[in-house]
Order: sequence, then C-alpha cells, then structure tokens
Amino acid sequence: MTVLHQPDATIYEGKAKILFATSDPKVVIQEFKDDLTAFNAQKKGTFFGKGALNCQISATLFKYLALEGVPVHFRSLDSPRRMIIDRLDMVPLEVVVRNRVAGSLGKRLGIPEGSQLSFPLVEWYYKRDDLGDPMVNRDHIRVLKLASDAVLDQIRTLTLQVNDLLVPYFRERGIVLVDMKLEFGWKADGTLTLGDEIDGDTSRLWDVVTGEKFDKDRFRLDLGSVKDGYEKIYERVVGHAVES
Ligand code: UDP
Repeated sequence: MTVLHQPDATIYEGKAKILFATSDPKVVIQEFKDDLTAFNAQKKGTFFGKGALNCQISATLFKYLALEGVPVHFRSLDSPRRMIIDRLDMVPLEVVVRNRVAGSLGKRLGIPEGSQLSFPLVEWYYKRDDLGDPMVNRDHIRVLKLASDAVLDQIRTLTLQVNDLLVPYFRERGIVLVDMKLEFGWKADGTLTLGDEIDGDTSRLWDVVTGEKFDKDRFRLDLGSVKDGYEKIYERVVGHAVES
C-alpha cells in the first residue's frame, strides 16, 4: 500500500509530536519533534536530533512488543523521526505503571526514591492539559464516563503485559525500567491498541549498575546533557551507536 504524505494535513500538534493525515484515513504519520517540555509545559527546551532518537527508540520497542503479541499502532518507520501508524480513537487516560518509586509517587506517599515496589503499581491520569492531567480512580473514570469497567480491565491487563515484557528487555540491556506512561486507543477494526510513544520522554530509565538517570528527569532536574542520556538509551535499545 502506498501512503502519501500530505504536509498540510496536520491532524494534531502536541508538545512533542505532530500527527499528519495520509491518503488512507486509517493511517497516520507520527512525527517526533526536537522540543522537550516538563511540568505541564512550564519548562521548555530543545535539542537537535531528539525527535529522531525517540522515534527510533519507540519504533524498536513497538516492534518487539508486536512480535510478542501486543496490539500496537506502529506499522513502519517513514524517516528517522517519522513513523507510520494506525489511526486510533484515543481513550483520554494516561496509564502509569511503576516498578520502583520515583517522581510524584515518592513525593505523594513519602517513600524514598528507588524503593522497589512489591508489585507493578498502576495509576490512572485524566488526559486534560488544562487541568494538569489529574490522577483519577475508577469511580472518577465512571463518573466522567471515560471508559467502561471492562475496558479499564483490558487496559490494565495490556499495561501489565507490556511492563512484564519490557522490564526484562531493558534489564538485558543494562537498564532499570523504573516507570512508564502508556496510552491506548481503538483501531478502526475495534481492537484496543497501544499508541503514543515509549522512550525517555515517557519512562524513567536508570543504569542498572550506577543508577544514572538516562531519561527526561535529566531535563526536569538539570542533571546533565539530555542528549547524552537519550543517546545512551538509543544505543542500548536499538543496539548500535548513534550515527552522526
Ligand atoms: N509521564 C508522562 N507524561 C505525563 C506525566 C508523567 O510521560 O504527563 C511519565 C513520566 O515520564 C514518568 C511516569 O510517567 O516516567 C510517572 O510520572 P510521575 O507521575 O512520577 O510524574 P512526574 O514526576 O514525571 O511529573
């Protein structure tokens, strides 16, 4: 199938990605931008090549998950920072799964950063930038009619499956998967499908030996070169050095 890119047909532009329509209404191009934002876009930055690094990290992880039977939106890479994906009707929830304590969890519950959780902890956030993506529970989701209980169960099962696959995947590459944020949506054929991205912008990834943070916390907390961190993730996930 030939997918024609129509540069004027922007469907959506977010903080880190742009979606373009194609000649096929079921297919979309997801372009990864070089921009970085944190704290609900109050802190902004950019570095050349960031989009391409994240696009290829995400593509590699999606390919692996697809091989393991997870329904993913990813179809193929179109260019270093563009992927061809199935168009999804998104569930307006961000699903966070955590293996160790970091970020907002440690602050909220007073648990030291890095503590191992006895099981993968799942949290739900309502995808509403104007409200700062508040954490919600099942009752809030019911009141807002964001998803049925059966769909939430399906999303939870898929989230835990993705986590169970990626924890050892990263560990074999010398990385601890501390936590990650996933998003799901409906494909045209009705399949609940993993969408968005999985990379250093949306997950916390630490060196197994030194504990060095490779992910967006470098940007959030001014911990050093974000580019160096993302290149380390790329090298370990994609399996070869970044070509300059
Ligand atoms: N996360 C994300 N988008 C958000 C909020 C969180 O991708 O809008 C990711 C974040 O990078 C981390 C995980 O979800 O890997 C858990 O984030 P947390 O709740 O600790 O919030 P943060 O400390 O990132 O504000």
